[in-house]
Amino acid sequence: MINIIETEKIIKPELDKIDDIVFFNSKKVLYAFQKNSVSEYHFNSTTGYGYNDVGRDVIEQVYSDIFKSEDSLVRSQFISGTHALTVSLFGILRPGDIMLSISGTPYDTLHEVIGIKDNSSSLKSFGVKYEEIDLVNDDFDYEKILERVKTNDIKMIYIQRSKGYSTRKSISIEELESIIKEIRKVNEKAIIMVDNCYCEFVTTKEPIEVGADICAGSLIKNLGGGIAPNGAYVVGKKDLIELIGERLTAPGEGKEVGPSLNMNKPILQGLFMAPSVVGSALKTAILTSYVLEELGYKVEPKYNEERVDIVQNIIFGNPEDLKKYTQGIQMGSPIDSNAIPEASDMPGYDDKVIMAAGAFTQGSSIELSCDGPLREPYIAYQQGGLTYEYGKLGLLKALERLGK
Ligand SMILES: *Cc1c(COP(=O)(O)O)cnc(C)c1O
Repeated sequence: MINIIETEKIIKPELDKIDDIVFFNSKKVLYAFQKNSVSEYHFNSTTGYGYNDVGRDVIEQVYSDIFKSEDSLVRSQFISGTHALTVSLFGILRPGDIMLSISGTPYDTLHEVIGIKDNSSSLKSFGVKYEEIDLVNDDFDYEKILERVKTNDIKMIYIQRSKGYSTRKSISIEELESIIKEIRKVNEKAIIMVDNCYCEFVTTKEPIEVGADICAGSLIKNLGGGIAPNGAYVVGKKDLIELIGERLTAPGEGKEVGPSLNMNKPILQGLFMAPSVVGSALKTAILTSYVLEELGYKVEPKYNEERVDIVQNIIFGNPEDLKKYTQGIQMGSPIDSNAIPEASDMPGYDDKVIMAAGAFTQGSSIELSCDGPLREPYIAYQQGGLTYEYGKLGLLKALERLGK
């Protein structure tokens, strides 16, 4: 049996560090609201074409200030993170261009987008070429990357920070900064794009600040604060955001259209809550990491390791414990707590996946959620927790189901 009160005494220094980050990012958000004079009338929204949607426009200003980007797109017309990444790739890349991933194979749902897995609508089917360079020992392969990019024929360098369904570590902002600096010494023109999913507000800096040209993520993860009911964001260079806007809507219309359909208030309120909600998710992850390691499972990251994203891996080593734990997280959730998840096929994923998502918003993973593909070494990817207390209660239920 785990004594939670004793455990919390041990992990307290780690929890306190999170409070400092939450305070820093809260200031960032509040000052951006104030600088842009966010007002009650911005909660109003448009319908139809969505011309002159001042709420939508102020949201994009606020995002630009937070990310220190020239421009941004924050839209509910983006279905998800995958969609925002897809529209960005199709917006920027042209037939004959080369996209080079330097963080290994991208997230599962992008395989058909890029054409790693056949799809007649993939980038590959339009003649966009794709290359990748694997990480070595969880860091960039500097030698290979610099050798490849110095020829200047690469249109886009793609970097995914969070590990996705892999066993590697996630990429910190310092590692990102360091590789971008080195790339820029030999190549000034390749567009550097970052998949920032799960990493927003985990530390005090974001990718554009360290030299990325474009960066995207989902609003049903970190930045939606558990309140935005869907959507995604892309931030970055003005000319790139324009291209992406024209792909999202239509050439000639771009960012000027897109009705906010009553989404302005939840997007703003979610962003306002996001620093502390991300903090709660991080605290839930720290507690989970400590407890599961005490119980003899391998975990990544460890409770006192620097965190880059909100994802906590638990390496169960067998399908039974993975299933039971995931089922327990579902049982400890506020919504559909009586459902028992089973592994099943998911669109965009190769293996069967088991998912606990007892969430207010379908598929929201800033809410306490846990999922894992049924393949060796049977890793649970747990993330979220709208409050630390609900996160803790979810964990306790999962431990009970696990028989611990
Ligand atoms: C979740 C995730 C995505 C895709 O986001 P969705 O909103 O689920 O489509 C892409 N990349 C990474 C690293 C992710 O974690």
